[in-house]
Amino acid sequence: MPDPTTAQVLQEKLAKQGVHTLLAQFTDLLGVARGKYLPLAQLGTLLRGGAGFSGTSIAGTGLPRSGARSEYYGRGDAATAQALPWMPGYARVVCDGHVDGEPFEACPRQILRRQVERLAARGWTLQVGMEPEFFLLRRDAAGQWQPVDPLDRSDKPSYDLKALARQGGFLDALNQALLDAGMELLQTDHEDAHGQFEVNFSHADVLTTADRLMLFKMAAHTLAEHHGASFSMMPKPFANQPGSGLHFHVSLWKGEENLFADDHAELSELGRSFIAGVLGRSAALCALAAPTVNSYKRLVVGESLSGTSWAPAYVAHGFNNRTALVRTLRGRFEWRLPDAAANPYLAAAGLIAAGLDGVDRHLDPGPARPDDLFEWPLQRIRAEGIPVLPQSLGEAVEALERDSVLAQALGAAAHGEFVRLKRAEWTAYARHVSAWEFERYATAF
Ligand code: GLU
Ligand code: MG
Repeated sequence: MPDPTTAQVLQEKLAKQGVHTLLAQFTDLLGVARGKYLPLAQLGTLLRGGAGFSGTSIAGTGLPRSGARSEYYGRGDAATAQALPWMPGYARVVCDGHVDGEPFEACPRQILRRQVERLAARGWTLQVGMEPEFFLLRRDAAGQWQPVDPLDRSDKPSYDLKALARQGGFLDALNQALLDAGMELLQTDHEDAHGQFEVNFSHADVLTTADRLMLFKMAAHTLAEHHGASFSMMPKPFANQPGSGLHFHVSLWKGEENLFADDHAELSELGRSFIAGVLGRSAALCALAAPTVNSYKRLVVGESLSGTSWAPAYVAHGFNNRTALVRTLRGRFEWRLPDAAANPYLAAAGLIAAGLDGVDRHLDPGPARPDDLFEWPLQRIRAEGIPVLPQSLGEAVEALERDSVLAQALGAAAHGEFVRLKRAEWTAYARHVSAWEFERYATAF
């Protein structure tokens, strides 16, 4: 329970910044930012009891329509209160789900908190940088989604400065908003597909980074609309071009000591066991880190317009190897599995649970793969014993359903609801009859 003076002091501080309204925000199980507006004077109530929401109206709560457990309270985390530069007069407060006076087991932020507490019990903290790639899109006259910039058409779109400059209005506004919100920016570039960009901000403890990623997405959606574009974190909008990843850069710390660092190797023994746990659970982690039907169009090996998709398909690790699922670097690793649609809280919670399981069981990640794995034929991948990621959301969901470590990390309610919702998503897609089918079969037989 926060000290009432905290609310008072914070309220005065926000009022001095011109804030009149609070945006009480939480993230649902599907990774979407939700919330409501409250007058600033309600800050004390928001921090102590929470803002009330109808539980069944929020995706993935599994809460009943009536009774004490029907109400979902988003209880504000005072440390996250932050004026929103792109919405003058508004401050976001990140909320943790509570039901019937208790932390709500199936709230994604609470799920990540539980894993963070498991690390804290050992004196450890996980530092994570999340790297969002995204598209700027528009609908053309025929209603088809296209890159917002019709001139963005080069054969090798990576680092295209002309196309980058043409989105300067949006990108400047976004970067300025993030800076004003206290985030440290690292870089902004044009990625390898038409209309695709990446904005990087500095790493922090995993919970802070997940909160910041949600802030980034909220800012980007609004500011893109102001600039006549739709901000998209769809994993693979265009079949012949790379998709959007949300790579995680990961290191584990005890105070000032990086537990993944080793003077004689890229990763310490502990780091190797951690990645072994993560690699070993890749199929089930896919459901959390690549959670849409569309995600599995990104995680394939194949030619793209520019030559390669750079998305991992093989469960392997290698030093500075972007063709492997885990790219090891000195004292940290890049987890290349997550895509832009991932719920950052759930993907991070799954990563920690899988990594800790690897540490506790002293797992070995197997040999490092220095080669360009995209050059290897599938036969060789199989002969080397390298597993291939699930090829569909349906397969990934089945793996998650069976995985006891991730089931425990999510908790029974979130695990059950996530599997149910994602299986329904897969079934709806599988039953849908597409334009491709008509083209191929309508008059073929
Ligand atoms: N867009 C690629 C992906 O989907 C990653 C490209 C990169 O390494 O920056 O993972
Ligand atoms: Mg990138």
